Amino acid sequence: MTKESEQWGIATRAVRTGHNRTSEGEHSEPIFATSSFVFSSAAEAAARFGGEQPGNIYSRFTNPTVRAFEERLAAMEGGDSCVATASGMSAILAVCMGLLQAGDHIVSSRSVFGTTNVLFNKYLSKFGVDTTYVALTDPTDWREAIRPETKLLFLETPSNPLTEIADIPALAEIAHAHDCLLVVDNCFCTPALQKPLALGADIVVHSATKYIDGQARCMGGAVVGDAKHVGEDVFGVLRTAGPTMSPFNAWTFLKGLETLQLRMKQHSANASELANWLQNQSVIKNVYYPGLVSHPQHHLMLRQQSAAGGIVSFELKGGKAAAWKFIDAMRMLSITTNLGDTKTTITHPATTTHGRLSPEEREASSIRDGLIRLAVGLEDVADIQADLQLGLDALS
Ligand SMILES: *Cc1c(COP(=O)(O)O)cnc(C)c1O
Repeated sequence: MTKESEQWGIATRAVRTGHNRTSEGEHSEPIFATSSFVFSSAAEAAARFGGEQPGNIYSRFTNPTVRAFEERLAAMEGGDSCVATASGMSAILAVCMGLLQAGDHIVSSRSVFGTTNVLFNKYLSKFGVDTTYVALTDPTDWREAIRPETKLLFLETPSNPLTEIADIPALAEIAHAHDCLLVVDNCFCTPALQKPLALGADIVVHSATKYIDGQARCMGGAVVGDAKHVGEDVFGVLRTAGPTMSPFNAWTFLKGLETLQLRMKQHSANASELANWLQNQSVIKNVYYPGLVSHPQHHLMLRQQSAAGGIVSFELKGGKAAAWKFIDAMRMLSITTNLGDTKTTITHPATTTHGRLSPEEREASSIRDGLIRLAVGLEDVADIQADLQLGLDALS
């Protein structure tokens, strides 16, 4: 970051940081659709390859559009380095490959994105990295799971779909007391609502596919943190193993970052209004939304986040039959498991995102058959509510 941009607020960083204007004087960020870069001489090529001269060589290593996205997201998260990746999962994979070796151990929240579980259990385990799962909201559980070979603590907050909140400063303290790094998947909040690095986390990972894009167009991910762990170790995996972000996707995400603040505020405002309304419906047993005063970590959320986010879950009294009937009554809401879109989506976690879990595991995590998750979009709240009313009507 330049001196000037260090003074900027996050909204200005989201719009201005990262664009090094070319001699053409373009106002909007250009897409550098090029796989390789030319050198002015053989000596310059040698100097670039040898690392004595900075500059682009090949887009698996660096690309100006991707770099612009990385600089902008790093500035927004408050990190020194950012590495963009082809997807959210490749961001998590690159962190593990860059920072772990056989014999190392991860302590992870039980409530992480389903595919993250599969990555840890089925693939990292093949390379001798073990994972222990703990309760997101119980610091004692985390502390007791740490072993001498533990290197990473991994979590998402708020959790999906029950919106539980982790105490990031408390877990950072536990991590650092044991020489471990705290990795936070900040996909649900984005830096617009929560800055894990400022709260003590060491590394932030993102699925840019969700709110950073914001319109469900491109796959992408990112890792943000310090110059050594991220700028060298994670970057080294990217340039060697190759799950890099395409320049076109980087450009889409750059444009997404520009409106992120506004969108996250509105997602949160819409979700908040709907959560309050859902709470008063007789067929609903429980509403899970950290913005509700009744949420068990409401005060913790207020300390860590600037708004409660766009995810609202609720449990219907009638179990799976009621949940499916409710979902099938929708006319406008999209029945899909994606989130972070302008379009509101509705999901039945027990038979989709969490369908792999046994009934006992689902019960232990309170992902019951009557649970429905909404990823609230940017339509008029009255129209979302009218669709949800159709679901309520179908049950009465
Ligand atoms: C979607 C998601 C991921 C994975 O991201 P992809 O871009 O789909 O690979 C990781 N973490 C969370 C919280 C997600 O929602």
